[in-house]
Amino acid sequence: MPGFDYAGSEEEVLVQGPKVLVTGATGLLGRAVCREFQAGGWMVVGTGYRRARPRFLRCDLTDEDAVRRLLHEYKPDVVIHCAAERRPDVVERLAEATINLNVHATSTLAKEAAVCGALLLYISTDYVFDGRNPPYGEDDAPNPLNMYGRSKLEGEREILRHCPGAVILRVPVLFGEVELVTESAVTSLWLKVQEATEESCTLDHCHQRFPTDTRDVAAVCRKLAERARQDPSIRGIFHFSGKEQMTKYEMAVAMAQAFNLPSNHLIPLTEQPAGSAPRPVNSQLNCSRLELLNLSIEPQPFTSAIIDCLWPFTPDKRWRQTVFH
Ligand code: NAP
Repeated sequence: MPGFDYAGSEEEVLVQGPKVLVTGATGLLGRAVCREFQAGGWMVVGTGYRRARPRFLRCDLTDEDAVRRLLHEYKPDVVIHCAAERRPDVVERLAEATINLNVHATSTLAKEAAVCGALLLYISTDYVFDGRNPPYGEDDAPNPLNMYGRSKLEGEREILRHCPGAVILRVPVLFGEVELVTESAVTSLWLKVQEATEESCTLDHCHQRFPTDTRDVAAVCRKLAERARQDPSIRGIFHFSGKEQMTKYEMAVAMAQAFNLPSNHLIPLTEQPAGSAPRPVNSQLNCSRLELLNLSIEPQPFTSAIIDCLWPFTPDKRWRQTVFH
């Protein structure tokens, strides 16, 4: 079948719980979401695209027929829509492909989820805000500064237009277990931390960020999905974020300290870097709606969470055992 094929596992057939379809299951967040729902006894069907095989379904979400068949064949109770192009500089270069994935595919999924009666949870971003007047509540007016933020906001609008019972979860910059450190903007900093023997290197000390662990976001997704299935008033926009405010410079220094590495080669840069897509200076999210409904979780401290992600990339991988056990 063009655009959609599957290499399922026997494990999935044996699980009897409710069924969740996770798009972007090969990505940074999607992997954590699949793990979280599996651990909670859900039957998980994950989709990917270029990296789908052998573990996941391969489905090009920009192919409307493939999306339609996917939902009608698997009849999920819940869809967690993680797939997107989320690198702001790539988005500026590949505008048409981004709109197809971030907006049109989102629109198709929303229509099909509504037809199938599946609860849809769409992952969005703090980049829908301009960062000039934080913290931002769910009802504050968005004003994205770059094409990525605009495409995600358009995605939100398609979700609300076609699937009024859907949930939208906005999150800030994410990190988690990575296949390569360059997979997330946070773990990428590890390359700079390790350049201690080279010349000094500059790091952004201008944009305030709230690095958030994908395991925490995944846990919130499961809480939201389980509650929203019972309570139809759980719908619309929610915010979730890590609590520690840090610039990239501060994240890199924290990584160096966590692994007892030198950090005096890291130089804070207080001017906006030229040539890249504009980013909000501080798009801190107010997360009180989730907290008041008891749908939030206490985020893991940055230092311990980043150690979990980076220790496989330390020269001596026994480091973790020798220090922590
Ligand atoms: P990611 O690691 O870049 O993963 C993107 C996913 O989209 C991959 O699974 C990829 O599949 C899939 N994909 C790409 N093109 C596709 C297509 N044509 N059809 C089907 N699937 C396709 O993204 P992420 O970091 O996990 O982001 C998850 C969500 O969180 C996104 O909605 C993003 O906007 C949002 N978010 C992310 C961050 C962050 O810092 N990462 C921050 C805020 C919000 P293949 O790799 O198999 O091709």
